[in-house]
Amino acid sequence: MSTQGGNCKSRNIVYAATCKLCTKNNVYVGKTVTCLRDRVNKHRSSYYDILKSAKNDTTFSLGLEDIDDLNALGAHIFSVHKKSERTDFNSCFVFDILCSTSPDDIRKCEQSYIDRLKSKYPFGLNNANSVSGI
Ligand SMILES: [Zn+2]
Repeated sequence: MSTQGGNCKSRNIVYAATCKLCTKNNVYVGKTVTCLRDRVNKHRSSYYDILKSAKNDTTFSLGLEDIDDLNALGAHIFSVHKKSERTDFNSCFVFDILCSTSPDDIRKCEQSYIDRLKSKYPFGLNNANSVSGI
């Protein structure tokens, strides 16, 4: 994990999650006021929730309207790469800290990275419904 501007214990960070299975349009930009590890755990458990739903309903699928900031990563590897193992989350995503900032500047900072890395759907993994700041 790159520690540019912070480390796993840093708070108020903007981070990127990159899907290793895609060669382009594969970046998600997120922010967290807690530490990255907690945030990654939340992304991962959202993926587990998707797997649980899929197990209980073989016709389960996710539409764009079902995707939020927390399950966007899990939805990507489930829908695009047909992943169904719990271990797939860790093998598919690389997390990098992009910057560490203050709570006041975090939204602005996130938005500037979303623009710079062009991570908004369909050019990246930030979902179409997400409004920066929510
Ligand atoms: Zn991918």
